[in-house]
Parts: sequence; structure tokens; C-alpha cells
Amino acid sequence: METAKSSHIKLFIPGPVEVSEKTFRAFCTPMVGHRGTSFQDLYASIQSGLQKLLYTRNPVFLSTSSAWGVMEAAIRNLVRPGRKLLCCLCGAFSDKWFDVAVSNGLAAEKVQVEWGRPILPEMIEAKLKSGGFDAVTFIHNETSTGVMSPLADVAAVVRQFPETLLIVDSVSSMSGVKIEADALGLDVLLAGTQKAFALPPGLTVFAVSPRAMERAKTVPNRGYYFDFIEFLKNHEKNMTPSTPSIAHVFALRSKLEEIFAEGLDRRFERHLTMARMTRAWAKERGFEMFPKAGFESVTLSCVANARKVDVAAWIKRLKERHGCIIDGGYGKLKGITFRIAHMGDETPETIRQLLGWLDDTLDKK
Ligand SMILES: *Cc1c(COP(=O)(O)O)cnc(C)c1O
Repeated sequence: METAKSSHIKLFIPGPVEVSEKTFRAFCTPMVGHRGTSFQDLYASIQSGLQKLLYTRNPVFLSTSSAWGVMEAAIRNLVRPGRKLLCCLCGAFSDKWFDVAVSNGLAAEKVQVEWGRPILPEMIEAKLKSGGFDAVTFIHNETSTGVMSPLADVAAVVRQFPETLLIVDSVSSMSGVKIEADALGLDVLLAGTQKAFALPPGLTVFAVSPRAMERAKTVPNRGYYFDFIEFLKNHEKNMTPSTPSIAHVFALRSKLEEIFAEGLDRRFERHLTMARMTRAWAKERGFEMFPKAGFESVTLSCVANARKVDVAAWIKRLKERHGCIIDGGYGKLKGITFRIAHMGDETPETIRQLLGWLDDTLDKK
């Protein structure tokens, strides 16, 4: 353990992020059976916290899968045969959601913008007016480009179409940014735990509206593992359909205690402070933000490499000298951008330290 720890490279990449000792201790709580009262009590004990965090009265389900499991589940549960799905594409994850829809045999159409640009409500409105859409997939915080699209405005537009459900991926923003699921009328709101929650990867939390539940009942071939109706039936008994990653649920309970000890508003404010510090640092050093101005993510900064530094070599020096890493750019943005995650347990102090280390390793010394 000591050796493993001393050689550990701290993660400032946008997922998985660094997991605290405290969280790991909770993760290693002795096991309980998933059909007994210990688990039911555990499940029940985190429900109100999750609902408070998501500003919802809807059940918040726990899926033992990465986020993609529930991203695929949502479109399979909510789109009826002969009806269409509208996918909003603005980066690697949202682009792939369209491919996943097609591979599930769904009639998917797209609203697509260049990487670095946000999805705007008018684009969606124009498409939905043509009719026939059962659902929209929308990524709040496109982690590959660091763009945060305007969720509230998009939700307001989708809500004008009563047949169309809104599926929101907030994988890298949930718990770092205020998202009022019920006030916005979101039908599915999902996130994996390895990003802003700072838990290990492997669990996804998702809230589902009653309207979406009603829809799911009318959709055939939902399968079993990701069937929303199965989740609801088990939820009523404070259980999950199959054996969950119980360790994650212990860790999530511990994390929710921390979140409410800090206070939601303070937590959101902390993320905003870290984002502002990072953006200011990038500009002062002659870089630029990759996202269109006004749409920069609050939980990670995707920085355009305007100075044309050798990003890979920089990160290598950072790793060797300071034992941590940032991300060198996603897919086709590799080297053209770099990404700094400032979510989860990071604080203005740890980010200030990181920015100092980035300065120290920026040029060959
Ligand atoms: C990381 C990420 C995903 C994929 O999560 P997995 O845990 O790999 O399934 C999906 N969407 C967004 C926005 C992400 O950041």
C-alpha cells in the first residue's frame, strides 16, 4: 500500500478524477447482502440526499455500470417503434451517442455543431417542429471540448413538445453545477460517479420522471439489465434489480455526507472559483479557451494550445517532477488543446498548486 501510494500519479484529468483516502475507506466497508435490511437501509439513507442534490422528487436509481450503460438504456426505454430520436452533437461523447442510437436500430437524427461550439435551443426547436421525435439526447457538459451548453434554455424549448422527452447526460457536471431537474422538466438526468463526484468508476446515478416511466411501459424490448420499470419496482423496496456494486453505494453515502457538510451553494461556488482561476491563468500565459466564449465548462477547462507548446512533453515533465497529470487533448484535439479538471475534491488551493507546477514545467528547464 505504501509503495503503491508513493508511486501514485495524482489525476487532474477529466475522469476518472482523484479519489480521496476517506472515500476509499468508505468504499472498503465490510460487505452486506443486497437483499437484506442493511442494504435497504443504506439505499434508503442516500435517496433523499440524491434527490436534494438533483433538485428532484423523482426516484434516483443506481446502476452498476459506467455512464454509457444508462445513456444506452435511456434511448432504449424511451423511444417507441416507428418514432424518432433527436441527438445533439457537439463533441466526442455526444457524437458517439448518435452512433449508439443507430447501432440500437433507432431512427436517429442530429443537430450538429463544430467541436468547441454549444448546442443552442433554436437549433433543437427547428428540428422538433418537423414532428415525430420521442426523445432528445443532450450533453450538458461536453467533456471532450470543455463546452457547457445552455441546459435551461434547451429544456424550455423541448418542454414545448409534450411528446418529446429530454435525456440529459450531466456526467462531468452533476454535483459541480446546480441542475434543477424538476424545475427544468428533465426526464432523465444521469451521471457516472468517477467525475464530479470523485468516486471510483463503475456506478451511475440517474433520475427518471413519471412521464418517462409511463413512456417506458409502452416501449417493447427494453431488455432486463437496464429496464427502467425493473429499476422502479426494486426502488420501491430500496433495492436494485441485480447485485449492485455495494462498495460504491457506501462510498456514495460518504460523499453525500461531505457534500451536505460543505453545503450545495458553497460547493457550486468552489467549482466556479476554480474554473475562473484556471481560465485566468490560461489567458495570462498566452493560451486561449477552446470553447466559444460564454460556454466554458465550470468543472474542467479545455485550453486551446495557442502557444503551440509540445503538450505531451509538458505533461511528461509535470508527471516526473510533480507526480501528477493533466490531459493532453481528446481524440482529434490531442496536442491542439489540453484539459485541466477542477472538479470533485479539488479546491482553489490544490488548483493554485497545480497551476504553479504547470508554470514550473511549461518550458524546458
Ligand atoms: C466520461 C463521459 C461519458 C462516458 O462515461 P463512461 O463512464 O466512460 O461510460 C459520457 N458522457 C460524458 C459527458 C462524459 O464526460
